[in-house]
Amino acid sequence: MRNSELFERAKAIMPGGVSSPVRAFKAVGGEPIIVSRAQGSRLWDVEGKEYIDFLMSWGPLILGHSHPKVVEAVCEQAKKGLSYGLTNEHEITLAELVVSAMPSVEMVRFVSSGTEATMSAIRLARGYTGKKYVVKFDGCYHGHGDSLLVSAGSGVATLGIPGTPGVPEDIASLTLVIPYNDPQAFEEVFKKYGEDVACVIVEPVAGNMGVVLPKPGFLEKIREITREYGALVICDEVITNFRLSKGGAQELFGRDPDITCMGKIIGGGMPLGAYGGRREIMQKVAPEGPVYQAGTLSGNPLSMVAGIATLKELFTLKPYEELEKLTRKLTSGISEILHRNGIPHRINQIASMFTVFFTEEEVYDYETAKRSDREMFGKFFRSLLREGVLIPPAQFEAWFLSTAHTEEDIHLALEKIDKAVASL
Ligand code: PLP
Repeated sequence: MRNSELFERAKAIMPGGVSSPVRAFKAVGGEPIIVSRAQGSRLWDVEGKEYIDFLMSWGPLILGHSHPKVVEAVCEQAKKGLSYGLTNEHEITLAELVVSAMPSVEMVRFVSSGTEATMSAIRLARGYTGKKYVVKFDGCYHGHGDSLLVSAGSGVATLGIPGTPGVPEDIASLTLVIPYNDPQAFEEVFKKYGEDVACVIVEPVAGNMGVVLPKPGFLEKIREITREYGALVICDEVITNFRLSKGGAQELFGRDPDITCMGKIIGGGMPLGAYGGRREIMQKVAPEGPVYQAGTLSGNPLSMVAGIATLKELFTLKPYEELEKLTRKLTSGISEILHRNGIPHRINQIASMFTVFFTEEEVYDYETAKRSDREMFGKFFRSLLREGVLIPPAQFEAWFLSTAHTEEDIHLALEKIDKAVASL
């Protein structure tokens, strides 16, 4: 079976041949691979080619592909039912684990994706405050909900799609977009619209314009001004929850959001999202309160047991320091290779996630991220793929490491990257 033959079949009956846009590899100018299986730090395509995987399903797999404990939990549960449509004990256990890890989350509601989490959180913020505007940051991606597709990062940025086709102007105009890491712009938008702002949604560490860290004072300013105006802060930790630390980005940066959105790692590779926050706010969610939100498969036991197995393993292993060290080995190795080959670059890294930008300048917002040489990124990607190293097929994304990656993997990956860069 060939990748190209399967992709032709896919294109005939699926838009772009994919179920999610960036998988078509359009931004990097190559043919996508079709996956047959994955295990640990490795992934194989249908032609049998092996890759060291730094895409890791876009972030959920912090324990690597098919971790034995997660697989065992899912297999055991599958024999007892895939979905009940009623409350099960695993939901309560996972909710308790989440609440114990994240001090700002007193109550939690499970949904089936990060998109659902952010859409529901926005509705809750509007319902709670009775206000209409949402403030978001240029280049941050919060899933594909109508209100949040305005100036979004990730695939929207990669494919150069303007934020709004299909989103009526009336809806888009309720989203106010300002640059990331710009406290002054933030103050100004609140001076103008502050009384009518329901919430600010922010990635505390941005992962969807590539990795961009918050500058000192930026998140503090958001908290200070929103308190002043009575707007809520929604912290979108869909990437960063259980990735940066047990308590997510908010543990590292000491902020206390009103609502937190979760996804990816919380489901250990199964479809799962969640939103949670202060009790007084979450009590507005139906049936306790009037803000409606529901889901046929919400809280399904397969996702719950995968999440429980993943979080329990993480809480036991406490792998964050080791993961960061290993990641730093990889990033400093990549930097050395690029430097030796005279290729200007910047690497933004935190914990086990990072992005390589092909620019000499500091990258601190979407404008500076866009200065990266994307043609060079495309060449870099294709060359790495040929050598058997899989990274996100787009500039504005993060590479992820997992506990399944070993020192040998990093050593081997660097050898392959060295060879790939020499051939650019
Ligand atoms: N929020 C952030 C920060 C994300 O990175 C993503 C997806 O990458 C989402 C929300 C949407 O999550 P999902 O793709 O599970 O709908």
